[in-house]
Amino acid sequence: MSGPRPVRAPRGTELSALGWQQEAALRMLQNNLDPEVAEHPDQLVVYGGTGKAARDWRSFDAMVRTLKTLKQDETMLVQSGRPVGVMQTHEWAPRVLIANSNLVGDWANWEEFRRLESLGLTMYGQMTAGSWIYIGTQGILQGTYETFAAVAAKKFDGTLAGTITLTAGLGGMGGAQPLAVTMNDGVAICIDVDPRAIERRIEHRYLDVKADSLEHALQLAVEARDQRKPLSIGLLGNAADLLPRMLAEGAPIDIVTDQTSAHDPLAYLPTGVDFDDMASYAAKDPAGFTTRARESMARHVEAMVGFMDAGAEVFDYGNSIRGEAQLAGYDRAFAFPGFVPAYIRPLFCEGKGPFRWAALSGEASDIHKTDKALLDLFPENESLHRWIKMAGERVHFQGLPARICWLGQGERDKAGDMFNDMVGNGTLAAPLAIGRDHLDCGSVASPYRETEAMLDGSDAIADWPLLNAMVNVASGASWVSIHHGGGVGMGRSIHAGQVSVADGTKLAGEKIRRVLTNDPGMGVIRHVDAGYDIAESVADEKGVRIPMREG
Ligand code: NAD
Repeated sequence: MSGPRPVRAPRGTELSALGWQQEAALRMLQNNLDPEVAEHPDQLVVYGGTGKAARDWRSFDAMVRTLKTLKQDETMLVQSGRPVGVMQTHEWAPRVLIANSNLVGDWANWEEFRRLESLGLTMYGQMTAGSWIYIGTQGILQGTYETFAAVAAKKFDGTLAGTITLTAGLGGMGGAQPLAVTMNDGVAICIDVDPRAIERRIEHRYLDVKADSLEHALQLAVEARDQRKPLSIGLLGNAADLLPRMLAEGAPIDIVTDQTSAHDPLAYLPTGVDFDDMASYAAKDPAGFTTRARESMARHVEAMVGFMDAGAEVFDYGNSIRGEAQLAGYDRAFAFPGFVPAYIRPLFCEGKGPFRWAALSGEASDIHKTDKALLDLFPENESLHRWIKMAGERVHFQGLPARICWLGQGERDKAGDMFNDMVGNGTLAAPLAIGRDHLDCGSVASPYRETEAMLDGSDAIADWPLLNAMVNVASGASWVSIHHGGGVGMGRSIHAGQVSVADGTKLAGEKIRRVLTNDPGMGVIRHVDAGYDIAESVADEKGVRIPMREG
């Protein structure tokens, strides 16, 4: 009988599969469930509420077994975390194709999803959980850092020094917030109901200190703010209680956002419920729990709007909390914007997004070598230099050493090609898995997040992520996935991912150049199609062909 047990990816150059492409998928699946990486590995949950890497332990074992014997011209098919077939394909085809959590439109809601999940027919794949390219909290750190840098540029003369940010959620993704704020020299108060989440972020050096009470948190925050010193403070409590209280007491907050798991009402603790009773209550009465969670989210969002009215910079951080508050009847839920239209869209127009790579050797020195090589490759990219330097000093690796940085059209292919050469000529100890988040420029349709307020109103058009997945399959990615509901929950997003393995061979080089040109290219064409001028200039400059602009 297979059941929960500690999982850790093998390190080094000894293969347990028939080639590095398969070995990479095997190690990255296992790495997602490494206790250092996953939030709740015993339940196969990697991050983001209930985002899982495999449907159940039997499916996990079957995937491991299959990947170990999969040939170079075979492809394993994964349906919501369970391997359902192996087909003969060809060497250029992906070794794994993954479809997670997809439901037909009218059925695409949490209630139906949970019914099917309880029958053992599906699982929630989030974004990089079910597509095996989660790299721990660092994965979101640079995006969060850049977002707060954009807030600083927009509102606070380019620095968060002397400001206080208030947020909640110190989970797998939300845990990046305190470090991203202090990297921008600001002060952050970060609320979470789970004491372990606070301890874990302190242990991993993402969070500086824990406050004993709200008063203590405010005292520490104001002192640090007045000295213009960066400081992040963890505060235990329920955001739906604490935010309204802080607003009523006139707490001096400059920036407000949130990264609780609001996309899934069963992962947001309602007020008046003890954290220790959360799981049993959610399991016993999901409908009642959902109603109470949404009511609490309405209070939480109402307080965020109150802070906005009082002059703070307030934004939704991609967790659907506005949509949930609206469902509970709060009519000003969408008074503040999502972070993509507010700060990130111009980057998407350039094909930029969260490019990442993991060292399959398990050696930190491989990542340090790629860091240095990347800086030499892009000597003029100042923000890249700033980020890589800070990441090198402050990021704690979780599981296989990995790095993330935002690169755009014309950059990712160069980096990928160079990495493949570094594997081929023995500079690196073993191959790299090169992938990205699904939160990317051309890989997602998500009207409350990545595609909120598109210029042409095309927010809910989901053809783009499907084309993105197809083009990555056609270009030679090592594994490709199509998911539903990641980030913002059931019925609210469709998105695709790809991972390409740099194993140092000529064939891998050919594939990587195509995938890493075409994948960000989807972001450029998506934004040209929606009418963004920046995307048009990038298309012209980088030679991205747009038939409707030719002839
Ligand atoms: P997670 O489940 O690992 O962590 C969520 C945290 O919220 C937990 O620590 C939980 O204890 C806490 N929490 C729940 N209810 C609370 C309440 N009422 N008050 C205070 N704390 C509460 O999730 P995660 O991976 O950190 O993701 C958080 C959210 O951010 C998700 O909705 C996810 O989809 C979204 N997300 C956003 C981005 C982005 O780029 N903006 C990226 C990934 C994920």
